[in-house]
Amino acid sequence: SSLEETLLSAIRTIPDYPKPGILFRDITTLLGNARAFRRAIDELVHPYAGQKIDKIAGIEARGFILGGAIAHQLSAGFIPIRKKGKLPHETVRVAYSLEYGLDEMEMHKDAVTPGEKVILVDDLIATGGTAEGATKLLRQMGADIVAACFVIDLPDLGGRSKLEALGVDVRTLIA
Ligand code: IMP
Repeated sequence: SSLEETLLSAIRTIPDYPKPGILFRDITTLLGNARAFRRAIDELVHPYAGQKIDKIAGIEARGFILGGAIAHQLSAGFIPIRKKGKLPHETVRVAYSLEYGLDEMEMHKDAVTPGEKVILVDDLIATGGTAEGATKLLRQMGADIVAACFVIDLPDLGGRSKLEALGVDVRTLIA
C-alpha cells in the first residue's frame, strides 16, 4: 500500500483528549507497528541521505523517539529540547504557546556549535508554536536549521506557514 495509507491507517484518533472537543492524533500505534515505523523514518530521512547533517533536535517527548531513529540513520548527533526544569546543565529557555496552553522549553547551551546543520523533528505540527520555540532556541545558539520534519501536519492550524515565514523548510508526511 502507499506510504500515506500505511501511515494514516497506523495512526489512532482519540476524541476529547486531552480536553473536550480536541481530536488527538495518537502515534503510539504507528510506533508499535514495525513496518509503519520503519517507513515513516525512511521517508523522513531519505532527502538528507548523503548530506552532512550534524545534529537532529527532537522535541520532548515523541520527537525524541523519531529523532533518535533519524539521527542513527544519518549518523548525526541528537539534541533533546525539553520542558523547563528537566535538563541538568546550563540552558537557554523560551516561552511558547501551544494548542492547549502556554509553556516553556529549554535546550542545553552547549548542545549546538555555531554553524552546525540541524534538523528539527517532532511527531506533529499544529499551530507551529512548539516548533517556532524550538527554532528560536536553536538559532539563538547559532544552528543552521536545514529543515523541520513532522509525521503529521494539521494544515488548518497554520503551523507550516508560521515556520516557513521564519525561513524554515518544512517537511510533513501526512495531513
Ligand atoms: P503546536 O505547537 O500547536 O504546533 O502543537 C504541536 C505540539 O503539540 C507537538 O509537540 C505535538 O506533539 C503536540 N500535539 C498537538 N496536537 C497533537 C495531537 O493531536 N497528537 C499528538 N501530538 C499533538
